[in-house]
Amino acid sequence: MEIRNSSENGSFPDPNPENAGSSLLFLGTGCSSVVPNAMCLLQPSDPPCKVCHQSLAVPPEKNPNYRCNTSLLIDYCGCDGEHKYVLIDVGKTFREQVLRWFIPNKIPRVDSIILTHEHADAVLGLDDIRAVQPFSPTNDIEPTPIYLNQFSMDSIGVKFPYLVQKKLKVGQEVRRVAQLDWRIIESSCEKPFAASGIKFVPLPVMHGEDYISLGFLFGEKSRVAYISDVSRFIPSTEFVISKTGAGQLDLLILDTLYKTGSHNTHFCLPQTLDAVKRICPKQALLIGMTHEFDHHRDNEMLAEWSKREGIPVQLAHDGLKIPINL
Ligand SMILES: [Zn+2]
Ligand SMILES: [Zn+2]
Repeated sequence: MEIRNSSENGSFPDPNPENAGSSLLFLGTGCSSVVPNAMCLLQPSDPPCKVCHQSLAVPPEKNPNYRCNTSLLIDYCGCDGEHKYVLIDVGKTFREQVLRWFIPNKIPRVDSIILTHEHADAVLGLDDIRAVQPFSPTNDIEPTPIYLNQFSMDSIGVKFPYLVQKKLKVGQEVRRVAQLDWRIIESSCEKPFAASGIKFVPLPVMHGEDYISLGFLFGEKSRVAYISDVSRFIPSTEFVISKTGAGQLDLLILDTLYKTGSHNTHFCLPQTLDAVKRICPKQALLIGMTHEFDHHRDNEMLAEWSKREGIPVQLAHDGLKIPINL
């Protein structure tokens, strides 16, 4: 596996036409409030925040500091050469991410969806799933399978009752809404499930001490773990993804919110790097960053850390595409 940073090879975005295999496309790498942070532009500090102000001069597709809500698209090319597109999380910025990254990467549709948890930055784009579904004024289309735990299902039933409702009530008009086939998964490493032909192992992690979010382990030829919202690892989950446990990951994609200190519901860089050292993947990419992170500057700092510790770690960025053998 080779990490290609499309913002640094002169052509952005990188359509990577020679790669007919599987790939991971980072649709979003930012925190819930996304970057640029609106208040940095509404009421600039003195001196102004360099990361957020960059967004006024540099278009988003050329700006690795422009970060939407965390989301990953797995483009899986099976042995028959057919592509399947699995989306992890559908946050507040989903439609913008579709316009920005689906089109240049020729992603024609979403075949299935997986949810890490039910917070706004993971689910509030669900209404816009209809934008990537065939048009039918009577909702007469194949629903997209969506995998989530029972806790998320209950919450989404309250947030989006019209997406969960099975039948029209007597006298209710038909209105076009996203068609979803809700499939409940267990929050357990012992209960893998398959979405569009890919096996996923749920990775329950603490996201604040009162809340369990899910990461996912997938890939047979390359083992990848995606964990976007974590403040503490449950030992049984850490075992499944650790070199000293069930085996070394090829790629760990991991949460980091701020550069210093700690936070009650997310890892910050010190905890993220500690976890990377313990888990010891072949390489790691970080997601979920606030405007404290300056992509190029902090990747230089992480390159030093990587050299010292022997594990390549970099910040991901929106639009990053990684060819990978799944
Ligand atoms: Zn800022
Ligand atoms: Zn969350």
